[in-house]
Amino acid sequence: MERTFAIIKPDAVERNISGKIISKIEEAGFKIVGMKKIQLSKSQAEGFYYVHKERPFFNDLCSFMSRSPVIVMVLEKEGAIAAWRTLMGATNPANAEPGTIRKEFAKNIEENSSHGSDAPETAAFEISYFFNAFELV
Ligand code: UDP
Repeated sequence: MERTFAIIKPDAVERNISGKIISKIEEAGFKIVGMKKIQLSKSQAEGFYYVHKERPFFNDLCSFMSRSPVIVMVLEKEGAIAAWRTLMGATNPANAEPGTIRKEFAKNIEENSSHGSDAPETAAFEISYFFNAFELV
């Protein structure tokens, strides 16, 4: 079994569609082994997205991610990392496949409703950034 890290981003939590996204996660066969609603500070968002610090969208992205609460989750499934990225769809919703979370719910390339780890090392860093071992069940 593999674990990955997921976020329901502020644009989705603000529109009260977290439940619809969680339904898709459960219907796709993921076990939610950790979940909490938190409000990121700007500096916590910057630490999370550290790898993107040289990208032109970094500041706007960190402001967006800290403007209102998010739901952070650890998802478990065989091949969870790739499976969650497939369910999310492409970063830009204009390029996302039908049935994906970003196609159905994302507002634009920045406010795209969900985050998912892109590799095992990233998943390990991101899970430990938000959860301790006692919070994963
Ligand atoms: N993003 C953005 N503008 C861009 C590309 C990305 O605002 O041109 C934001 C978007 O919210 C995206 C996040 O930065 O989800 C991280 O970008 P990445 O390329 O890692 O995409 P992801 O792995 O989330 O699909």
